[in-house]
Amino acid sequence: MNTTPDTFDVAIIGGGAAGLAAAQALGRSRRSVVVIDAGEPRNAPAEGVHNFLTRDGLPPRELLALGRKEAEGYGVRFRDARASATRRNADGFGIELDDSTILAARRIILASGVSDTLPEVEGLEAYWGKNALHCPYCHGWEVRDQDIAVLDSPFAVHQALMFRQLSDRVTLYTAPEREFDPIEREKLEARGIRVVHREIIAVRGNDNHLSHVVFRDGVEQSVDALVVMPHFAAGVPALSGLGLEATAHPSGIGTYVATDEMGKTEIPGLWAAGNTRDPMAQVMMAAADGLRVGAMVNADLIQEETDAAVAALRAGAVAAIGQRS
Ligand SMILES: Cc1cc2nc3c(=O)[nH]c(=O)nc-3n(C[C@H](O)[C@H](O)[C@H](O)COP(=O)(O)OP(=O)(O)OC[C@H]3O[C@@H](n4cnc5c(N)ncnc54)[C@H](O)[C@@H]3O)c2cc1C
Repeated sequence: MNTTPDTFDVAIIGGGAAGLAAAQALGRSRRSVVVIDAGEPRNAPAEGVHNFLTRDGLPPRELLALGRKEAEGYGVRFRDARASATRRNADGFGIELDDSTILAARRIILASGVSDTLPEVEGLEAYWGKNALHCPYCHGWEVRDQDIAVLDSPFAVHQALMFRQLSDRVTLYTAPEREFDPIEREKLEARGIRVVHREIIAVRGNDNHLSHVVFRDGVEQSVDALVVMPHFAAGVPALSGLGLEATAHPSGIGTYVATDEMGKTEIPGLWAAGNTRDPMAQVMMAAADGLRVGAMVNADLIQEETDAAVAALRAGAVAAIGQRS
């Protein structure tokens, strides 16, 4: 019989690619696992997941539904809820959900991803993940050979060069006073990327399709796609009771959870996987990371259980010697 344990071996906060892959690895290792998921994966605005071998173009939530079904086959439990607070208890952790239930677990894997904040351009959000995009590997092929506008940001030159691989009609729009490093300027010129000193303040379009950018002076320009760079933030509020804080990412455009190479945070028993610890990871990389971290957590539990068994064995041997003498 598959009963709910008082204390799960592992609670996974976040049921995206990373959390599901960790859950499957742990379920197959006969661990009791609960996945708490708020149901908002980072790529939810996109129509399809690209660069995921064998599942190219599948809608993001369909991919996750397949993963959840597989994990359920190994006894993994799911709670459609948001983890809102976490504290230590005698066996590990108590995790409070937004429906006021409390779950207990020996280990936590934080796989809650990051949230993106878009640049302040009026109307942008409606087209985010459609033809307002940031990543050439996610949606670049879909805008190949099109008229691509790039919104200025600290990564705009890099993005313009990346999207130039997909189209020879790439234009970087920037503020009138913006000055480029001469080496950057030369690269843009050499690759035929136009630089236009007009600031984009709004976008227009219809049916999920952005068709125009609007400059500060009110003039509109037709475009096929707009490349932007959001800021990202690792969601750690639920873990603040443990003293976990997000760290500034080396890119300078967001935060993440710092871990060792294997996903262990500085807080004993707390691990992180996927975008939470590597905000640049694609879905397949996040899934691979979840598998790795799930395996590491299983190994950590095996070590704890083996140490306890050895201590019990030795205590038994000592007691037996005591009885004989
Ligand atoms: C617009 C867009 C399009 C993208 N397209 C692609 C693409 O085509 N191909 C690709 O490989 N990558 C793509 N990516 C990147 C992709 O989104 C990430 O690689 C992937 O989502 C990372 O998986 P994850 O499991 O780490 O996090 P997520 O997928 O973000 O999953 C985290 C889960 O945790 C949940 N959660 C958060 N906080 C809590 C909480 N407190 N309690 C419970 N649950 C919580 C969230 O609701 C979510 O369900 C895209 C990204 C964006 C922004």
